[in-house]
Amino acid sequence: MLAAKLFGPEDIRVLECPIPEIGEDELLLKTSAAALCGSDLRMIANGYEGVDAVHPLTLGHEVSGVIEKVGKNVTDYHPGMRIAIAPNYGCGVCDECVRGDTHLCADYQAFGINMDGGFAEYMRVPSRLITQGNLMVLSQDFPMEVAAILEPFSCVLNGQERANVHLNDTVLVIGAGPIGVMHAMLAKALGASKVMIRDMSLERMLNCKQIDPWFITVPEENLTQAVMRHTNGRGVDVCITACPSVQAQADALQLMAMCGRVLYFGGLPVGNDQVTLHTNLIHYRQLQISGSTRTNTRQYREVAKMLAAGRIDLAPIITTRYPLFDFKKAVENARKGQGLKTVIEFGKD
Ligand SMILES: [Zn+2]
Ligand SMILES: [Zn+2]
Repeated sequence: MLAAKLFGPEDIRVLECPIPEIGEDELLLKTSAAALCGSDLRMIANGYEGVDAVHPLTLGHEVSGVIEKVGKNVTDYHPGMRIAIAPNYGCGVCDECVRGDTHLCADYQAFGINMDGGFAEYMRVPSRLITQGNLMVLSQDFPMEVAAILEPFSCVLNGQERANVHLNDTVLVIGAGPIGVMHAMLAKALGASKVMIRDMSLERMLNCKQIDPWFITVPEENLTQAVMRHTNGRGVDVCITACPSVQAQADALQLMAMCGRVLYFGGLPVGNDQVTLHTNLIHYRQLQISGSTRTNTRQYREVAKMLAAGRIDLAPIITTRYPLFDFKKAVENARKGQGLKTVIEFGKD
């Protein structure tokens, strides 16, 4: 089978390798679609701990596929089932895991991060992913490429649960990449009264308008003035930073209404994560600040159900498609930041 493997910084090779063997408690997934994520780009640029010429790693943690084969002890899943699969799993016994937050387990693992992932024609699914419920069976009409981006959308739900986004909130999203647009879509679906989007790129903001003309783009030079004008001088109830910007994190506080909620969704580059905050704004406006990372499996299932019910359509998020043998071109395209999500497609299932 073909797989795109990382051998070290900037060393990605698309090569032929054997189809993985599976154990009695495991299953084999035939990949349908796998999306490129910002963290894949960082792993390719910087390399990754434990990955070298002798220990290459197949990346890809945003994946959908069809079950090809199951081990003899796997009883709940069968060949032919169409599957979306949440990448994160934990030890199963620590407090975080028992609470359902396997993504916060000290022993957290994920395919495409600690073991071979979805940029390959077949993927071995370890037993813990099966027993912890990471597999979501999809109906025949669920588009497989959309299933591949359930994972980032589920991270978006994790963030909005932390920030308690709800009915009639005014919401500002800073950063109009795929994650920012997904935040805007989810906030609307959760009942926000207004969703504003800010990005350095005018083109990206125009794209948002094309996806949903109801979104309000705020291209003005003075963001605070623009936000106050759109909120009758009140400020926003929720501000989500979906960009790696120190400035955005610092500026967010002055945009907030009383009892506003700030979500730092996007991380900052390592070594550049010290931000000066006017904490009196937090104090006098009773603000709440939260962060979020990754997603748990419950949230993954929630967004899958939301899409299956037609509550949201993520199809416009996917703007570029490549076959696996063009993986390097896909990486180049994703790096340019043009369009939104880049997806590797494996032929029709
Ligand atoms: Zn991702
Ligand atoms: Zn654990």
